[in-house]
Amino acid sequence: MKIQPTRGTHDLYGEQLSKYRIIEKIVQTNANIYDFFDVVTPIFESTDLFKKPLGEESDVVLKEMYTFKDRNDSMLTLRPEHTTPMLRAAISNNFLEKLPVKLYGMGPVFRRERPQKGRYRQFNQINFEILGTDSVMADVDLILLADKILKNILPNNKINLYINSLGDKNTLILFKKELSNFFKNHAKDLSEESQNKVLSNPLRILDSKNVIDQEINKSSPKISNFFSKDENNKFLSVQNLLKEVSIKYIINPNLVRGLDYYCHTVFEFKSDELGSQDTLIGGGRYDGLVKLLGGPDIPGVGWAGGIERLILLMNNNQKINNKIHFILMDQKFQSYGLQILNELRKNNLKVYFDYKYNLKKSLSQANQLNTEHVIIIGENEVNKNLCTLKNLKKNSQKTITLDQLIKILAQ
Ligand code: AMP
Repeated sequence: MKIQPTRGTHDLYGEQLSKYRIIEKIVQTNANIYDFFDVVTPIFESTDLFKKPLGEESDVVLKEMYTFKDRNDSMLTLRPEHTTPMLRAAISNNFLEKLPVKLYGMGPVFRRERPQKGRYRQFNQINFEILGTDSVMADVDLILLADKILKNILPNNKINLYINSLGDKNTLILFKKELSNFFKNHAKDLSEESQNKVLSNPLRILDSKNVIDQEINKSSPKISNFFSKDENNKFLSVQNLLKEVSIKYIINPNLVRGLDYYCHTVFEFKSDELGSQDTLIGGGRYDGLVKLLGGPDIPGVGWAGGIERLILLMNNNQKINNKIHFILMDQKFQSYGLQILNELRKNNLKVYFDYKYNLKKSLSQANQLNTEHVIIIGENEVNKNLCTLKNLKKNSQKTITLDQLIKILAQ
């Protein structure tokens, strides 16, 4: 058996890495348009940063965090998400003096989940956060930004936006109680996993993927029945603003998100083409989280998107091999060859030299690499101070001067 990466992790290279870079660029461009500034936080943080904010009973904290003891016995955790580290960074570095603050970041996160298509143990997330405003415009702005980024990355894919509101913290506490009571009465019919959540985390039963749980959920209490007028209006405003900008959405009363810190607006962008791991972007409001982390009592809203899932949906022909394959037929033409190579690169041409000194082998490799242009230097070219340009796609070739060559290739 060849040595392999650890289960649930993967190397990024070739086509996938090119797609990753395309995503990065699109995210950066849009972050700039929407006026967010980027922050890179450490990959590990103190375990306490995550435990309470994410919820002691959340799946992430209970089963998925990579936590370890440092040499001085303090507990550290590989970040399982970006929001808490970003907020910690905002507090640590005094970003919160002038509000609102708009931050974004990208990079790896770690969760010990059961690996499958679209679900990994190390994966990369994009994250956007707006801190210091409770305006629903911020919620909608973030949804619009997510929608724009998705359309830029996946122009031809159908992606649905689901929204819900969780009300404020007090409403959520009342709702959870009611939900617990409801599920207690149905406990024996629930899946084993959901049975374990009846008391500790009943919200998560609502987004169970088990069909029997889903059937029971149809008659479960709905949070909107617990809303005050204010909470109701807030959610209606989000919907009206989305309609104003012609963003289609579906209200899903069972959309609760996985982590404890959410309140009011929550949303998810999903694709039908991904199987069970179908959420591309998820987010919502988390008023109270900054305070919980030791900062001022300011509201916040944000979202996270999974880069690997976006890569899975990007089509394969976005990348063409535009490298020019450079062939020296013999080592004795090295000095002439080096001068030509040097001139081509000075003219910003992307040239691949294979160091083979064997025409047949080099041509076969150029074909395998799906190359269009090949430059061949042999006795004839050196003697006449020329270069041969071969087009493998058109099956044509001509022997020309270096200037002519550069002119053709630079087009
Ligand atoms: P979450 O932080 O769970 O809301 O996840 C935000 C986004 O990250 C999801 O919508 C997915 O696109 C992505 N994601 C979450 N978990 C994984 C995973 N284990 N593997 C790959 N992508 C993931």
